[in-house]
Amino acid sequence: MKNKILGLHHITAIAGSAQTNLNFYTKILGTRLVKKTVNFDDPGTYHFYFGNETGEPGTILTFFPWEGIGSGRNGAGMATHIGYAVSPGALAFWKERLTQHGISYQEGEVFGEKHIAFRDPDGLQLQFIEPRTVDNRQVWTTEDIDEPVALKGFHNVTLTLQKVEATAQVLTDILGYELQKQEDSRYRFATDAITTANLLDVVVDPSASRGHNAAGTNHHIAFRVKDDEVLMAYREKILSAGFHITPKIDRDYFFSLYFREPGGVLFEIATDNPGFTVDEHLADLGTSLKLPKQYEGVRSDIEAVLPKLNFNLDHVK
Ligand code: ZN
Repeated sequence: MKNKILGLHHITAIAGSAQTNLNFYTKILGTRLVKKTVNFDDPGTYHFYFGNETGEPGTILTFFPWEGIGSGRNGAGMATHIGYAVSPGALAFWKERLTQHGISYQEGEVFGEKHIAFRDPDGLQLQFIEPRTVDNRQVWTTEDIDEPVALKGFHNVTLTLQKVEATAQVLTDILGYELQKQEDSRYRFATDAITTANLLDVVVDPSASRGHNAAGTNHHIAFRVKDDEVLMAYREKILSAGFHITPKIDRDYFFSLYFREPGGVLFEIATDNPGFTVDEHLADLGTSLKLPKQYEGVRSDIEAVLPKLNFNLDHVK
């Protein structure tokens, strides 16, 4: 199992306002801001990481809040739905909470698992799912959201694609997933290397138009590996399958590789090491602005450009 893909590591999406994004994910959904840093390529933009207490891989949703970027459009060639697992019975709490906050949702069921589907303030499509499998992940709790109803982390992610074959081949032949179920146009791929955040659904829609990447859409999804050695073994495997892939990139909290799968979705592979406690104590995660080394020298310039954030969210209703 050690050299396998261990499900999802993180998912990264685009937001249109840092404050609105922070309010929604910490206050309304109750995830923990585990790291507040900046975009490596655009240090005037935040990079937020929301997860469970430790920011465990498989729980981390990250955002680039590009102020005023405008709405994107979910479509083909994108990860269009992000599925969080909650405990059996927790959906009742979430239905009430979303309603209180004026957020409409739809109820549904996929492969026998009940969910509610709704959108974040930018239009990103989220699903809260009651899986039929046991999920013992440690949750982060808040004043409003107790342990029995708190988000566990990812259950699955759904890609919308015009066709499935070439992507399926990457998932199975390279990344070690297996086709677990199929119903109509939905294919569920799973890895048995881990029991949580181990599912990837593909919905095939040949007539879907391509998505447009801006606020409310996914930027990339990252698969999880144990360490650099496994990461580089995957690099060789992906290269020899004929794909372009980046060199190993140091993302401060993990090491990464990026390649685009044939359906158009940007895939990343990221390591467990070193993790989010590399530069902050567990109790303090997310409380100070962390900058990549190359930007420390211009910290004051960056701080002047970044939007000011209000962390007292009592006003968020
Ligand atoms: Zn990433």
